[in-house]
Amino acid sequence: MKNNNMTIECFNSENIGSYVKPFRKTPVYGPIDSRRLDKSLGINILKQGYYCNFSCIYCECGLDSQFKNQKLIFYELSEIKDGLKKRLASNEKIDTITMSGMTEPTLYPKFGKLIDLVTDLRDTYSPNTPTALFTNGYKLDFKNLNKIDKIFVKLDVGTEEMFQRFNRPKISTLNNTIKQIIKSNTKMIQSIFVKGADGNISDFDNYIKLIKQINPDEIQLYTLLYAYNESFDLHPLSIDELKVLSNEIKKNTNSIVKIYTNPVKEGKIFVY
Ligand code: SF4
Repeated sequence: MKNNNMTIECFNSENIGSYVKPFRKTPVYGPIDSRRLDKSLGINILKQGYYCNFSCIYCECGLDSQFKNQKLIFYELSEIKDGLKKRLASNEKIDTITMSGMTEPTLYPKFGKLIDLVTDLRDTYSPNTPTALFTNGYKLDFKNLNKIDKIFVKLDVGTEEMFQRFNRPKISTLNNTIKQIIKSNTKMIQSIFVKGADGNISDFDNYIKLIKQINPDEIQLYTLLYAYNESFDLHPLSIDELKVLSNEIKKNTNSIVKIYTNPVKEGKIFVY
């Protein structure tokens, strides 16, 4: 499989994690071409091993089993600082500095300090570049969270039962996630919907009820785009099916809804 030809037909267990592996070698990686954030310079907190507080059945990182024998080691703040400083001072084109992927960034033991570090370096070297966070909503009560310009929170379900089956949290509950989202005043939600016996589409009506409660400014809808664990019965939605979901959300809420589909554009692989 060539990265620049990756399509939904490429799904198979051999490809799991293939798109993230090249990015894992350094605390700062990219910039990569992001569907949402253009040239996105990524911050990677994991130096060795893998742990996420969720184990989503569609997780494209697919790292739980691959790294199970490795001790978990986070990058030191000083390592992230050196990497980020070097890249921001280099004058290359960077549209966003993003804490994302590969695990849940708020699991970083010094996440509050990481926010300060990233925003301070941004202010010094690239003051017009926004910062972003992709999170599953595990912990959003950091006092300085509002220093981050764009926060995208994952929400794929409407009931605790589906949350346990689909996102498979090791620690956390749906209730905790909703409380964290509402308390943090986060206004952008990203949601994946998939068909199949293990999919979450049957929970869509309950999801709408939760969305009404959260009242986000924007919802980003997508479906399976990368390789996933084949032992689950999961199938991507068509664009038309995503449009039906989008219309249903718009009918019930005031949120802007955006659909994200195939990550390949102009021969490049787009992520996030
Ligand atoms: S929260 Fe993200 S990294 Fe963690 S299991 Fe789910 S998809 Fe994978």
